[in-house]
Amino acid sequence: MPSLNSFPIRYKERPYGDSCILWVEAPEIARDARPGQFVTVGCDGLMLRRPLSVHRVKGEELALMFSATGTGTRWLSERKEGERLDLLGPLGRGFELPPSPTRILLIGGGKGIFPLIFLSEWALDRGFRVSLILGAKTREKLYPAHLVPCGVNLSLITEDGSYGDRGKVTDLLPLSGEVNYIYACGPSSMYREATLKLSGKEVQVLLEVRMGCGVGACHCCTINTKRGPKKVCQDGPTFLLDDILWDELSL
Ligand SMILES: Cc1cc2nc3c(=O)[nH]c(=O)nc-3n(C[C@H](O)[C@H](O)[C@H](O)COP(=O)(O)OP(=O)(O)OC[C@H]3O[C@@H](n4cnc5c(N)ncnc54)[C@H](O)[C@@H]3O)c2cc1C
Repeated sequence: MPSLNSFPIRYKERPYGDSCILWVEAPEIARDARPGQFVTVGCDGLMLRRPLSVHRVKGEELALMFSATGTGTRWLSERKEGERLDLLGPLGRGFELPPSPTRILLIGGGKGIFPLIFLSEWALDRGFRVSLILGAKTREKLYPAHLVPCGVNLSLITEDGSYGDRGKVTDLLPLSGEVNYIYACGPSSMYREATLKLSGKEVQVLLEVRMGCGVGACHCCTINTKRGPKKVCQDGPTFLLDDILWDELSL
């Protein structure tokens, strides 16, 4: 059952560029949250709450990570330790891990890495072997390697070659080799290329579409899939890559 409450911000980090991490003491949400789930945040003066993935969980605190790109996220990035945030969550259907520990591959394009950090920690804690392909346009936009949980087998790539290999995350997909469980989050262009390169594999993706209510009432985030129309906020935000009718989706 999702909680709606105001929770105190305990710690604020600015890891790189315009990104910001807020650690919020929210025991009810931290206890129930699963990787891939999200919360919606009430932002002062904005009618629509903004969806943000759970980035990390430690005890009774959860971290939200975002880039200050618009009205809501800019307002959020100005919040200070000790102030309270209005959160509703955990919401949505998270990623599904296989029943017994095995090797899994995570693919994070740009800001798509934010929800995958919680997934990698969750999987490592349960004995999975985790590989992560992490990419961004430039070094400045790349999630810092030192923040990736210890134990993750990391491959880095930037489009301009300023850090790691040169190219896009999808260029490293041959690394998927024998891995049968793949989890991805990134821009739609990444998903479109991944569809071509990973056909036949089971790939779970997290969709960051525009959302209205976040709880299934307004149908604003409905997408077309091979299994019929689905609401991203309730049936997702995780879906099977192959189920999505990409040509009918504007992300
Ligand atoms: C399930 C889910 C999880 C998400 N998790 C994160 C996260 O962990 N970190 C993070 O930084 N962002 C995340 N997003 C995207 C985030 O919700 C939007 O970027 C946010 O709503 C922007 O709000 P704003 O008021 O700052 O920007 P706005 O002023 O509304 O817009 C700023 C820019 O963001 C675009 N935008 C607006 N809403 C969305 C949206 N829902 N999805 C994608 N782009 C949008 C606009 O086109 C515009 O270019 C998530 C979205 C969803 C649906």
